[in-house]
Amino acid sequence: MAKKNQSVQAIRGMHDVLPEQSPLWQYAEKIIKDVLASYSYLEIRLPIVEKTELFKRSIGEVTDIVEKEMYTFDDRNNDSLTLRPEGTAGCLRACLEHGLLHHQVHRLWYYGPMFRHERPQKGRYRQFYQFGVETYGLAGPDIDAELILLSDRMWKKLGIRDKVRLELNTLGTTEERLVYREKLVEYFKQHIELLDEDSLRRLETNPLRILDSKNRDLKQLIQNAPELLDCMGEDSRNHFSTLTQTLDDLGIEYELNTRLVRGLDYYGKTVFEWVTDDLGSQGTICAGGRYDGLVEQLGGKENHAIGFAMGMERLLLLLEQLDDVPVERSVDVYMIRVGADAEKEGIRFAEQIRNEIEGIKLQVNCGSGSFKSQFKKADKSGAQYALIIGDDEVSRNEVSLKPLRVDQEQKNMTQNDIIQFLTESI
Ligand code: ATP
Ligand code: MG
Repeated sequence: MAKKNQSVQAIRGMHDVLPEQSPLWQYAEKIIKDVLASYSYLEIRLPIVEKTELFKRSIGEVTDIVEKEMYTFDDRNNDSLTLRPEGTAGCLRACLEHGLLHHQVHRLWYYGPMFRHERPQKGRYRQFYQFGVETYGLAGPDIDAELILLSDRMWKKLGIRDKVRLELNTLGTTEERLVYREKLVEYFKQHIELLDEDSLRRLETNPLRILDSKNRDLKQLIQNAPELLDCMGEDSRNHFSTLTQTLDDLGIEYELNTRLVRGLDYYGKTVFEWVTDDLGSQGTICAGGRYDGLVEQLGGKENHAIGFAMGMERLLLLLEQLDDVPVERSVDVYMIRVGADAEKEGIRFAEQIRNEIEGIKLQVNCGSGSFKSQFKKADKSGAQYALIIGDDEVSRNEVSLKPLRVDQEQKNMTQNDIIQFLTESI
């Protein structure tokens, strides 16, 4: 236990976003939301805590997430609850519960924190933010292409398009994967002496995930493994080739990565990841795929679903590498007030400015102080202009304006002229 006078610290792997960092977050969030709106996607807001059973049923018992990463606890009624490790299950749960999947099409997004008990490192945390995008009721492959186009547009708008590349694969249907699974098990059993502990376990539970192994010693073995594509029928092949044709037609480059199986069990047909080389081993900033089967697995009728999730912290790490990101100023105008009359008139005039100039960011100096010390604060605030009101100005019904970012003289203006001027220049 911490000593009495020691301050309490945050939980390892769970971070504060400090005020100086939040403009960059808001900048990225706004671009992402604007792109989603331009494709007519609607927001859905979901609980952060769900019944543990939901994740066991959807993500699968033998995945990293359910086996070792979930924050699970009993609440006061002894119900087992879990802090959501991802959003797909909760989103589908909500839509099933509210009857949104009945002969309907939905294009949805959500945003918020996810929780996984992983080893914290750069780009990998225990609480992290995801934007999730999910669509229901569409068999594709046109919607598959739309999701890729939409994410591609986000990277372009965020200025990181040249830092990421698209990896694409198809996992076929459940039946096709079963046939493949047998071939794969047979292959790995022939080389069983090469497998590590994790892979030996997966050989019994979920052999496809051996392909996902990050162990470099297995690289060659995995490279020579049989191909899923060889077990696929016409329907799966056509789905995939129509998707790749669309991407080709629209000039979206991709790499076919037949070892891309994604960590979760519920994917089928299209899967994709957007990957960067600029973040070390935490290189996937966005991952998604089709999960038609999950709808029935969670108690719904046969349906179609495809979506993706992107990790905001990894995205932010990429944005921080850019030279100039046009984040919004937090202060446009800083008001300096010196004298009792000026303090009173200043606060009134500031309200008038905010009434008349939509969106202006005006900070009023509070707590008095000399002209010099207030001016220093104005400069430090990053504001473009200082407005200066002293008792003299009040008696003349004037305000003084000083540009802070260019070398220009201070000038006295009437209040109306100030409003006119700021309207035009902010
Ligand atoms: P990884 O292979 O990196 O563990 P994952 O397959 O577990 O990723 P998903 O469940 O597909 O990840 O989550 C989608 C995205 O969310 C990831 O591509 C990544 O950007 C982000 N993400 C996942 N786990 C974390 C984490 N612990 N910390 C920060 N971001 C994460
Ligand atoms: Mg993971």
